[in-house]
Amino acid sequence: NIIMKILVTGGSGLVGNAIKTISSKYNYDYIFLSSKDCDLTNYEDTYICFQQHNPDYVIHLAAYVGGLYKNMNHKVDMLEKNVQLNLNVLKACHELKVKKVICYLSTCIFPDKITYPINENMLHNGAPHNSNNAYAYAKRLLETHCRAYQEQYNDNFICIIPTNIYGPNDNYSLTDGHVIPALINRCYLNKKNGEKFTVKGSGRPLRQFIYSEDLAVLTMWVLEKYNEKDPIILSVSEKDEVSIEYVARQIAKSYDYENMIEFDTTSSDGQYKKTADNSKLINLYNEYKFINIDEGIEKSVEWFINNYESCRK
Ligand code: NAP
Ligand code: GDP
Repeated sequence: NIIMKILVTGGSGLVGNAIKTISSKYNYDYIFLSSKDCDLTNYEDTYICFQQHNPDYVIHLAAYVGGLYKNMNHKVDMLEKNVQLNLNVLKACHELKVKKVICYLSTCIFPDKITYPINENMLHNGAPHNSNNAYAYAKRLLETHCRAYQEQYNDNFICIIPTNIYGPNDNYSLTDGHVIPALINRCYLNKKNGEKFTVKGSGRPLRQFIYSEDLAVLTMWVLEKYNEKDPIILSVSEKDEVSIEYVARQIAKSYDYENMIEFDTTSSDGQYKKTADNSKLINLYNEYKFINIDEGIEKSVEWFINNYESCRK
């Protein structure tokens, strides 16, 4: 029996670590790359690295990514680094005849003014929200690029579309992180200093969150079972959408610091909602059970506390 080889770019990040955690349940050889192994913004390095490993499949996670405030403050890098590394990865995969490539879009790259719920066909139907337009256009180009390889060369390069991801090994930066990891870190510090727990914005925006290990399992399902060319949204259902205030209260609860929340309404709220329709996924994989957000937050807080010294922040 030949064992197929999977190369995971961005193997040291949030989702890469989740794939590592579940990897032993599947019979593959894995290579997990970080930016230290290869700078994917450099084509030569990318090609040589991929050629050395000679993978059958590539799970392309690597990206220059962060929360709302990183998107607002680092637009040039969001655009240039993502465009560069995506061009290089797809080109190398084509040259080396990789059998299947899975690329990651996000529900945050959809048009700002749109009807809800958002589905897979609406990606290019209008401009993204101004706060993250640089990241959004870079990611939309990745989708167009995959389709171009499909149409011109029949390459099996596909895109999946997760919602806001959280879990162990997240980026807990107070300034650059996504909302859940940033608040997990801020609440820890605020409690330590006896200060109010500060949540940015009004707390009213709505989001669907996916636990990183759920996304890892669904990624493996996409690799093995999803044979369409079109993107697929990987999300919890619409009824599991929650407010930022809800998430902040759950985090505060995990620290036993519930009565100390304050909202800094001078900070931006970003897009009010991005409600995604997961019916395509449910039609194909209806028995999949997502971890509940309360439990996911508890596990993430616990991981953060246990790994406080070494985690990214
Ligand atoms: P992450 O934790 O920030 O990890 C990013 C990964 O990319 C790291 O392994 C990093 O390597 C690598 N990387 C960055 N620049 C690189 C470069 N120039 N060369 C090589 N590697 C590089 O990201 P994540 O949250 O797991 O995201 C995974 C994918 O999901 C991304 O494509 C992202 O756009 C997408 N996504 C994320 C979210 C979310 O909420 N997090 C939501 C929707 C979609 P180092 O560790 O060495 O820096
Ligand atoms: P998004 O889902 O792509 O918009 O990205 P985020 O994960 O950054 O979530 C942004 C939402 O969380 C906005 O409504 C912010 O106002 C709110 N939020 C509250 N506190 C924070 C924080 O400390 N960091 C971030 N990134 N967002 C926060």
